[in-house]
Amino acid sequence: MAEAAKTIAILGHIRPDGDCVGSCLAVYNYLTEQVPEREIQIYLEEPPVKFSYLKGFETISQNAGTGKIYDLCICLDASDKARLGDFAPYLDHARHSLCVDHHVTNAGYCEKNEILADISSTCEHLCHFMEKDRISKAVAECLYTGILHDTNVFKNSNTSGRTMEIAGMLMDKGIDFNRIINESFYRKTYIQNQILGRALLESITLLDGRCIFSVIREKDIAFYGVTGSDFEGIVEQLQITAGVECAIFMYEISDHYYKVSMRSGDKVDVAKIASYFGGGGHVRAAGCSMGGSVHDVVNNLTLHIEQQLNAREQEI
Ligand code: AMP
Ligand code: MN
Ligand code: MN
Repeated sequence: MAEAAKTIAILGHIRPDGDCVGSCLAVYNYLTEQVPEREIQIYLEEPPVKFSYLKGFETISQNAGTGKIYDLCICLDASDKARLGDFAPYLDHARHSLCVDHHVTNAGYCEKNEILADISSTCEHLCHFMEKDRISKAVAECLYTGILHDTNVFKNSNTSGRTMEIAGMLMDKGIDFNRIINESFYRKTYIQNQILGRALLESITLLDGRCIFSVIREKDIAFYGVTGSDFEGIVEQLQITAGVECAIFMYEISDHYYKVSMRSGDKVDVAKIASYFGGGGHVRAAGCSMGGSVHDVVNNLTLHIEQQLNAREQEI
């Protein structure tokens, strides 16, 4: 597809994460190197600055209104059209479209859809479409970043032997993996640590300690001056609490409207719950947006969590 296209738009999902930014820039750099003389443009909401070491980061555009019609639109790591945010018109108007993704809830919204739900990340999936010998150090940095972030440094259950082989191949390209892990994953700003501390301090356990939740309100978001990406890692920290099967972290994006993140151990299918509330994701990591009081939102979610936990207990 990319060989014939003279103009290519690359899109990811709203509130871009490591796999989103990594996959967009991996494709951008690979195509720029392999099929030069193409006009390629990435459109994303402002990506976290911690990914600025990736080649091409500064070329990412936030302009949703150019009205440009592309020969090909490539959608990466976005499980449905709504996740493309304001940039969806580039897909609507493109002559051809391709989606590469790994979300179990992705029903396929492009002309061609390469979706593999059992794989760690879009970046791992992309490696299957790239010739190993032609992966440059710059492309390897992008792919490694994406895999690293979606596996939580190779610890999540979505990490396979193949994931590690691919990571090894990328390390052999000479990337500074130690710096990438420390600076893009573990490094936190002072404010990020403060908001993490606040979320942990105010967390509440439910369902006999099998569920934990925490919320950050709009007024606190304004007080600390934080944005969506500053909350990365909070839900994972809640999830590692002993005895917890399912963690919920939410932050208020507008009055009584929340961005919800869920993580689970091996008993709860959170993709199913997130899909029910109009979101999506993976079996062990999913999200959605919900309105109402915190009490209502948590009650609605825990009802589903409890049902699943009870069903599992009856099986045993
Ligand atoms: P998060 O909790 O935002 O880190 O997201 C966990 C996983 O669920 C990621 O793979 C997201 O792409 C996916 N996800 C989060 N929110 C939504 C949503 N509103 N709709 C579809 N998928 C989502
Ligand atoms: Mn993502
Ligand atoms: Mn991903």
